[in-house]
Amino acid sequence: MEIRINSYIPITDVEGVGTRFAIWVQGCSLRCKGCANSHMWDFDSGTLYNTDDFINLIKQYKDRVEGVTWLGGEPLEQIEAVTEISRAVQSFGLSVIVFTGYEYKSLESRADFQELIKYVDILIDGRFEEDKTDYSRPWVGSSNQNYYFFSNRYDKNVITTYKNKIEIRVDKNNNISLNGMGNFKEVLKAMQEV
Ligand code: SF4
Repeated sequence: MEIRINSYIPITDVEGVGTRFAIWVQGCSLRCKGCANSHMWDFDSGTLYNTDDFINLIKQYKDRVEGVTWLGGEPLEQIEAVTEISRAVQSFGLSVIVFTGYEYKSLESRADFQELIKYVDILIDGRFEEDKTDYSRPWVGSSNQNYYFFSNRYDKNVITTYKNKIEIRVDKNNNISLNGMGNFKEVLKAMQEV
């Protein structure tokens, strides 16, 4: 099986509970107004990976991360591959967090979704809604988004324990990138003023 991925960060502290391997899938048909990742909408862009190869890549980090976080793009538009990789991730003893723009109630009757959530600890649902922008809760950008807990590993206390944070990365060629959740415009403005 193959999966189309935009990018991944093997070790990050701002994409869910603890230190995580974060994966941004490529392709999203939802096209929310104000989406910060519109370059991840195109289903023909990004890089195709064999799922077994990607599982082996994650395995190299299994002792350095608490789990894997799926972002996008829209992970549920590649649900079979996301399920296959999530199943392997859980077999390594790691947790799985999934972000989706779809609402939980529109998903729960789907057999493929029920299969996926066997291997998911936290699901965060709902589109980014620009007129409901709210950074007060961790990892989400608008107040309509909801957290669902499917295992005993985490509970709703994580919502008050964790805060939104933005990581700033500088690669060996001095290229700067940001990830996490918060007011990116304010961070970029502050960086330009330094
Ligand atoms: S679901 Fe996510 S990636 Fe897709 S358009 Fe909405 S905010 Fe962007």
